[in-house]
Amino acid sequence: MKNVGFRFRNPTFFYICSHEQQNHNIMKYELIKLPYEANALEPVISKETLGFHHGKHLNAYVNNLNGLIEGTKYEEMPLEEIVKTADGGVFNNAGQILNHNLYFTQFRAPKADNKPTGVIAQWIDQQFSSFEAFKEEFTKKGATLFGSGWVWLSVDKDGKLQITQETNAGNPVQRGFRPLLTFDVWEHAYYIDYQNRRPDHLNALWQIINWDVVNERL
Ligand code: MN
Repeated sequence: MKNVGFRFRNPTFFYICSHEQQNHNIMKYELIKLPYEANALEPVISKETLGFHHGKHLNAYVNNLNGLIEGTKYEEMPLEEIVKTADGGVFNNAGQILNHNLYFTQFRAPKADNKPTGVIAQWIDQQFSSFEAFKEEFTKKGATLFGSGWVWLSVDKDGKLQITQETNAGNPVQRGFRPLLTFDVWEHAYYIDYQNRRPDHLNALWQIINWDVVNERL
């Protein structure tokens, strides 16, 4: 396994954005392994949804990107750099890999009264007045994003927390931000479990956020 340097301080992050060194020195992206069992997030996210979302959707993005970058300048480029510089199919598939790697690794089993801890809890209280106010704004931005995309919590260049809506495969690294937390609002993320009730799905996600991981990304 060779690191390709997505520049997060959390060393585990290098793993989830890394290439696998294969024969003939060809670098291939690999589907990340989930850091929990397939049914661990139930009832917030069902085993069936996780199976399709991780095993089919993300897997397709990985296979597509490997096919698209073969023999191009993107082959040796870190994933974050591809997202910042590519367009078309290369951007779409690279963006979706980066987005989903951040998404799937930020969860843990549901916990009653799950709340931010540590430094991120202080920053949220200072910059959004309370976790409740932050949660309301973040969930609303996810619910009102038209079509497919992602809502993100990031840190901007001045060290300020930002909530942004990114359409389709967008990622805040394109703005020069460091992504901390994301909700996927593509229908494939919730339709099996919640059908058209996107706000219900987004409200439920707060039960499974692993705030230790969010703190590691700060
Ligand atoms: Mn997705």
